Amino acid sequence: RVKRAGGGYAFFDLNQDQGSPIEIEQLTALNHAIERDELRLVFQPIVEARTLRVAGHEALLRWERQSGTVSPETFIPLAESSGLIVPIGRWVIRQAALAVARKQVDCVSVNISALEFQQPDFVKYIETVVQEMGIQPHQLYLELTESCLLHAERYSAVIQQLFALGIYTALDDFGTGYSSLTAVAHLPVKILKIDRSFMVEIGESSVTGVKALEVLRGVVTIAKAYGLTIVAEGVETELQAQALAEVDCTYLQGYLFGRPMPLPDVLLPQEKAEAW
Ligand code: C2E
Ligand code: CA
Ligand code: CA
Ligand code: CA
Repeated sequence: RVKRAGGGYAFFDLNQDQGSPIEIEQLTALNHAIERDELRLVFQPIVEARTLRVAGHEALLRWERQSGTVSPETFIPLAESSGLIVPIGRWVIRQAALAVARKQVDCVSVNISALEFQQPDFVKYIETVVQEMGIQPHQLYLELTESCLLHAERYSAVIQQLFALGIYTALDDFGTGYSSLTAVAHLPVKILKIDRSFMVEIGESSVTGVKALEVLRGVVTIAKAYGLTIVAEGVETELQAQALAEVDCTYLQGYLFGRPMPLPDVLLPQEKAEAW
């Protein structure tokens, strides 16, 4: 439940004797990050392997504190365990959709945590944002991890409802968890994002490099037979990009094509109403 309390979002009890003093300090600060305007989205291009045309962007969250930028690797887990990920995630969805509405990006992919996905009004929220922003549903993609699929009841129905609205989902970090390709194929998921840990040996001419590429070729072939679209993450070298194109990966994402970048002119949500 999203409850406002004292200007922040109350999901947790700071008096509970759990967490180190540093965590409690971070949690208190994170609780006010939205209203203090400390959250930012950066956007990383996803390119078509064949043409290198930019097909879309993934929105990635940054927390800019006075002490410096905090990595999502540290604050997302804290946001998840405290429940703050729900209001933060809604801010992310709104800002990402706003960037589309303003034509700053063509289409955008947003990361969704399991707790967000499990909210009973999740689909309704997405639908409302799409309507309010006046964007096309297919301009917004949702990236789910396996944790969404493990713990959420009726997750398949939720993905189906989103699909019916025209909002496609991607399974993020594929290959790092337990999901088999056949399990994924039976979900109404549209896109498979192959984790960057797979890229390490891709493009190398060593025996392991060649084997890794053949494994990937197999994954891509089967995934495509099931109608999935493939995105390879963490592409850093020209050799990787060539090898991935050669095994028929459709989309590529990584530092080779662009780092996550801020939009130059992101306005605050409050300013949106005035601008429109
Ligand atoms: P992710 O969804 O797997 O995002 C990809 C991460 O890999 C990003 O890290 C990105 O900057 C990084 N990356 C992209 N290309 C390359 C590359 O070529 N090489 C290397 N080494 N790294 C690359 P980032 O931005 O630090 O985000 C980390 C994780 O935090 C994300 O992993 C995602 O799980 C989570 N996250 C970020 N933003 C959000 C958000 O708005 N909501 C939620 N729930 N999670 C988020
Ligand atoms: Ca992602
Ligand atoms: Ca990923
Ligand atoms: Ca990841």
